[in-house]
Amino acid sequence: MENNKYDVIILGGGPGGYTAALYCARAGLSTMVLEKMWPGGQMATTSRVDNYPGFEEGVDGVELSGKMQQSAERFGVVTEIGEVLSIDLERQPKVIRTGKGEFEAGAVILATGAAPRTLGIPGEDELRGRGMAYCATCDGMFYRNRTVVVVGGGNSAVADALFLAKICKKVYIVHRRDTLRASKTYMKTLEKTENIEFVWDSRVVEVLHDDLVTGVKVENVKTGEVSELSCDGVFVAVGRTPNTDMFKGVLDLDAQGYLIADETTKTNIPGVFAVGDVRTKPLRQIVTATADGAVASKYAEEYLAELCADK
Ligand code: NAP
Repeated sequence: MENNKYDVIILGGGPGGYTAALYCARAGLSTMVLEKMWPGGQMATTSRVDNYPGFEEGVDGVELSGKMQQSAERFGVVTEIGEVLSIDLERQPKVIRTGKGEFEAGAVILATGAAPRTLGIPGEDELRGRGMAYCATCDGMFYRNRTVVVVGGGNSAVADALFLAKICKKVYIVHRRDTLRASKTYMKTLEKTENIEFVWDSRVVEVLHDDLVTGVKVENVKTGEVSELSCDGVFVAVGRTPNTDMFKGVLDLDAQGYLIADETTKTNIPGVFAVGDVRTKPLRQIVTATADGAVASKYAEEYLAELCADK
């Protein structure tokens, strides 16, 4: 590697990104991970990961993120923290411009993940950090002995509610249907957790506030009745949106905005691969992201070898 030139640059330092980095470095490729904020991606916002093999007691998400980063850096992977300003994937070498300068790579692996979806309701944006939250494990501690509302009915909403129930006085789960999308394995624990109450068939239509959140307006979708719930915080857990804005018009995206790539992780541009939550796939988990990372490294290596052979 010289003058900001690498064999492989990986955008995103979550489990997919760092596994790709580990495998690329072990294959003898100079490798950089460019991460926007902190390593780990969504994994670093989870207090406990129980479904990643090898940890009989589970593992803290931040700890696992650090371990993945260190495992890759042990083999020479360089981590840069910085935001991508623009990217040119169609030329060779591929160019990535950041606030910290310009980088070139033979192959690029995209592991940019996904961000929490918002509700798009009055009060939501201006109250971020003043009662509106999107990560229970990051912000839950601010609501000790308080009352909070969790919006959503998937695994994230339920996991967040169970986490918050240990800290908060009361947790309402507001879900737009009368059954959960979350896996059934959560049901027993939910039933046993006395300070969780469900508000079924309902959607939050407005956030009530003075300086801070004071409650929410909730509409029953079956009856149309609108009522108010007093609370100190609202945790939104209604799914995620892929971080693919910068690839629009360049790479093929599906209707939800995910990068189209099959099990080879190859995108429509040769030498550009997509791994983890940002890729079209049936199951978005840490373990499927790490698997993608390993696969992408194989095809990146193959692509770079062909480039060399053509020279
Ligand atoms: P998800 O499975 O897509 O669930 C999103 C939930 O939010 C659904 O219940 C959905 O309602 C609701 N929703 C969507 N848009 C809404 C809106 N505008 N207003 C109100 N409600 C809305 O998303 P997720 O829970 O974030 O999970 C994402 C992935 O991560 C899943 O594959 C999940 O299994 C995985 N995950 C796994 C674990 C675990 O295994 N422990 C933990 C967290 C996440 P409907 O049900 O009506 O569509």
